[in-house]
Amino acid sequence: MMTLREIIDNSRRIVFFGGAGVSTESGIPDFRSADGLYRQKYDVPPEVMLSASYFYAHTQEFFRFYREKMLPLSAKPNAAHIRLAQWERAGKLLAVVTQNIDGLHQAAGSKCVYELHGSIHRNTCLSCGRKYPARFIAESSSVPRCACGGIVKPDVVLYEEPLDGDTVNGALAAIAAADTLIVAGTSLTVYPAASFVNYFGGDNLVLINRDPTPLDKDCTLVLHEKVGEALGGLASYLSEKEENS
Ligand code: NAD
Repeated sequence: MMTLREIIDNSRRIVFFGGAGVSTESGIPDFRSADGLYRQKYDVPPEVMLSASYFYAHTQEFFRFYREKMLPLSAKPNAAHIRLAQWERAGKLLAVVTQNIDGLHQAAGSKCVYELHGSIHRNTCLSCGRKYPARFIAESSSVPRCACGGIVKPDVVLYEEPLDGDTVNGALAAIAAADTLIVAGTSLTVYPAASFVNYFGGDNLVLINRDPTPLDKDCTLVLHEKVGEALGGLASYLSEKEENS
């Protein structure tokens, strides 16, 4: 069986499909691990609080939860984010497809990132369409309001909302074009995102996840390890000068 290093050495069109576990090494809790958000006790479960119907019916409570739990603005990219950005610059990686909304892949320098569930860094007034940065939401109290009086809603995909069509098409095209797909840091339980890995038809399906997933049995290589440690230990495929520029 090939090692991860051998697979990456021999790949030219890597696509990375990640979830919340990619950012836990940056200090952002995931949802379903033992210390994840879903194991903490709330009066209303997080999947209800993060639904569109809750947003419109209990806007103030939504923003209280969102500001407290979903806006990790001081988090920094970890070794996984940094390595993936380097592989893209080195011409080995086509795209990152992420379920995360934290923007850490772009903060590490990745350019081609399909954010299936949107981003905390884009926020739009529901009345006039004006755009606001995440800081505006973080610094607001109660319900964030636009200069026009409209509610400013984060461009994150809430439960009950559809995914953005162009983002889905771009992500599926990238996955279909990949020679190696690395799936990492995801429980593969949030649909439709989890089903996107079925569009892969390349040579190596690699899974890096702390806990077992339903995909383990179909993979070329399964590593039950931390993704930052696994990717951080590999080559950047850049010269020392390129790496530091
Ligand atoms: P999940 O919480 O359901 O599962 C995370 C998986 O990652 C678990 O199987 C866990 O074993 C694994 N994991 C945790 N830390 C890891 C590490 N360091 N290395 C390797 N594996 C690790 O996450 P999900 O499947 O992405 O689904 C949760 C949903 O919640 C997603 O849709 C996502 O949008 C959202 N979410 C996003 C963030 C974020 O933006 N950082 C954080 C929490 C949740």
